[in-house]
Amino acid sequence: MNLKDGYAAILEAAAAGWALPEKLWTSEWADKYRQVPSKSSPEGGQWRTSRTPYAREPMDELSSRSRTQEVVIMAASQVLKTEVLLNFVFESIDQDPGPMMVVQPTEKAVKDFVSQRLDPAILAMPRISDKVPSSRKRDSGNKITEKNFPGGVLYLGWSNSPSELASKPIKKLALDEVDRYPVSLKGEGSPVKLAEQRTANFPRRKILKTSTPKVRGASVITDEYESSSMAQYWVPCPHCQALQVLVFENLRWKKTTDEDGTKRHWPDTAVYVCEHCGSEIEERNKPWMLADKPMGGLAEWRHRHPERAKKGYHINGLYSPVGLGFSWAERAQKFLEAKKDPAKLQTFVNLHLGEPYEDHSDQMQAAALQARGEPYPLRTVLPGYLILTLGVDVQRAGYFALHLVAWGRGERCHTVDYTEIPGDPSRQEDWERVITTYRRRPVRNAFSVDLKVSMTAIDSGDGVTVHEAYKYARKYRHDDVMVIKGYSQPNKPILGRPSKQDVRNDNGAMDKNGVDLWMVGTDTAKSALFARLDGDLMHEQYTDRMVRYSAELPVTFYEGVASEFYDADTGKWVKRPGKRNEPLDTWGYAYAAAHHPRIAIHTARSADWDELEKMLEPRVHDMFALPLPTQASAEQATHPTPEVQTSAPGAIDHTSTDTAADTATDPDTAEAASAPPAQAARRDDDWVPDMRDDWN
Ligand SMILES: [Zn+2]
Repeated sequence: MNLKDGYAAILEAAAAGWALPEKLWTSEWADKYRQVPSKSSPEGGQWRTSRTPYAREPMDELSSRSRTQEVVIMAASQVLKTEVLLNFVFESIDQDPGPMMVVQPTEKAVKDFVSQRLDPAILAMPRISDKVPSSRKRDSGNKITEKNFPGGVLYLGWSNSPSELASKPIKKLALDEVDRYPVSLKGEGSPVKLAEQRTANFPRRKILKTSTPKVRGASVITDEYESSSMAQYWVPCPHCQALQVLVFENLRWKKTTDEDGTKRHWPDTAVYVCEHCGSEIEERNKPWMLADKPMGGLAEWRHRHPERAKKGYHINGLYSPVGLGFSWAERAQKFLEAKKDPAKLQTFVNLHLGEPYEDHSDQMQAAALQARGEPYPLRTVLPGYLILTLGVDVQRAGYFALHLVAWGRGERCHTVDYTEIPGDPSRQEDWERVITTYRRRPVRNAFSVDLKVSMTAIDSGDGVTVHEAYKYARKYRHDDVMVIKGYSQPNKPILGRPSKQDVRNDNGAMDKNGVDLWMVGTDTAKSALFARLDGDLMHEQYTDRMVRYSAELPVTFYEGVASEFYDADTGKWVKRPGKRNEPLDTWGYAYAAAHHPRIAIHTARSADWDELEKMLEPRVHDMFALPLPTQASAEQATHPTPEVQTSAPGAIDHTSTDTAADTATDPDTAEAASAPPAQAARRDDDWVPDMRDDWN
């Protein structure tokens, strides 16, 4: 046994409860030893729990003296979380060492945490820095992701690296800002669960999870808090002494109305109104209000579910001590700036109130989309739409999702059909039965012409389906079938360059480079779709819309289209938990198919559309003998042939109504007619070079 091991043995003995000096509670330890570097806080120097008394109980639950294993903190930004985490780490290093890990959302967040919070705090405390050499010292044996100390080690990991999370047994785990972790890691599941599994072998484990919450339904910390003891901090009113939880609704400020009727807010006058006696409480009373029992005060944490072993604490920004963080007046000001804009309001609710944002946008969006449904039957191609593409998603659960989209000038589109057909994606027979049958079934347009599916894009899916997808695409490569792989990164082109993939053929031999795999910018497709849906809101007429849907589509289709939301923080599209997103994904695949070099609706010129129109909507040209815009084609449909009516009864009634008032001389019609080619030309310039160069 060398000297270091011997020291560790003594500490082990201490941990086992031998007759060594009794350990301090974490709050006591911090009041005695914790130094706050002035660099990281406006109030540097000796830590005082009395400054933020609400930190006392969560810290003490994390101390080695407490039996509690799990602590959850859902809090406003800059309130409670990081200092509790640091005191937890330092108390453990000093009094109860063992393997520990702190997890941050990203590698950059780890570096910032170490350089701005952890290292300066260690340097400020000789009691800790004697044990944990700074990562800046070359001979310390410590690197940025690992700090060794007698009896233990502190690992620093980030949430998107499964190897970091999964490799080591951990006795004490701190997961910081969990709502910024990926929901799931490829093949590994939730990073939170993955990290938690590392503590399984330690009966006296400690797990701390902290975060400002994000959107309810996609917020880990909200779920954690709601399954915990759910404590809130109750403070007394200086006037009537009655205890209450501070809520933003009771922050009040003066409002006046100018002579001209303009309302004015005076956030500088913000006071808190007691919910019991109605008195106005000024912010300078806060130190007295926050004081807890050990300080002779009245404030306390009250747990809604004291019987639950997992201790959870929620606190908002109204509690931050005077001089630390925003004042009530400043928070009132922030609210006034945020309230008009849903994105800013979400930030306010999350960061200042520490509450999850109640996002109803998926239901609202689904309902709004469904309300746009037009009275045309499914499997009908509306006038002005000349190209059909099919997007296919293969589900291991045993079905194929197929989305048939018709395209016209300026990338206008409408959903011709969306269906989910049961089938086993591991059997080529089922691919034939479902996909081949479907894509060979023509769809008749309003001019009695049968349109074929010009291109089918099939998602290669995961490990189970990928080879079947290659095999199918290989077989039908001359039959307008492409296999794709989605790239959920912002600003990728809709369709990138293909790469050659090997395919195993029927007799088991490998067909080298047998199939092209096309990269699809799925996030770009989603952004394009929603931008168009938004833009459509200002158009009263169906025929002006960029994206059109049939009223026959079920509500589940619209819920699927609205199943994801754009997270401005990460710049990514995020699927709402428990929602099916195939209607949205398959639209993106059909859109990608329309970008295949043999189709290329984005580079099609006006003359190309004219040519198609001549073939597919012949009656228009018979009558007018001129290239005609979409709207005029639609108008022509007011006199459909009998065959069209039998194949698609009622298909174009609404179009007739819409366009009945429009004539070729109507300025709206003229404008709409010239717009799409201009847009297509712009796309040429912006997108094509990008498409060629950006895939690496
Ligand atoms: Zn009162």
